[in-house]
Amino acid sequence: MIIGIGIMLLTFGLMEVKAWLMHKYVLHGFLWKLHRSHHTPKKSFFEWNDLFFAYYGLLAMLCFIYGSENMDFRFWIGAGISLYGFLYFVVHDLYIHRRLKIFGKADNVYLRALDIAHRVHHKTRGRDGSESFGMLWVHPKFIRLAKKTASQRNVAGGTLLN
Ligand SMILES: [Zn+2]
Ligand SMILES: [Zn+2]
Repeated sequence: MIIGIGIMLLTFGLMEVKAWLMHKYVLHGFLWKLHRSHHTPKKSFFEWNDLFFAYYGLLAMLCFIYGSENMDFRFWIGAGISLYGFLYFVVHDLYIHRRLKIFGKADNVYLRALDIAHRVHHKTRGRDGSESFGMLWVHPKFIRLAKKTASQRNVAGGTLLN
């Protein structure tokens, strides 16, 4: 069980690395066709980019199917992928992009930094020239920016968004 939880946490950490690499080199690379829907103004609730959720969902499901027979490492890898996918959805889709109006602006410096970093990512509408490809790991410069703008966040949020 302890080893299983270790595998799950390791998978979770590796998923952030994988998400960063995928985002930078695949989504802003040869799969830009799908990811472009996430960088252009929305036309409907769903985007082609959502297919990536289905991809990770399928991956986790296969891990659960094959790993739950003997509760082996595959089960815990599936749990790590699911945990990451869930948090990614909450942070990226619900908190940052507000696809469902559940969360307001956070006061927490880390959450503010994630928001700023991802908005900087979205400043570029095209395939090239973007930055901040990760999700839960944030560059320290955005933490500093979030601290600095905590008191005047409306002004800062406004300039970053435009
Ligand atoms: Zn992107
Ligand atoms: Zn986004």
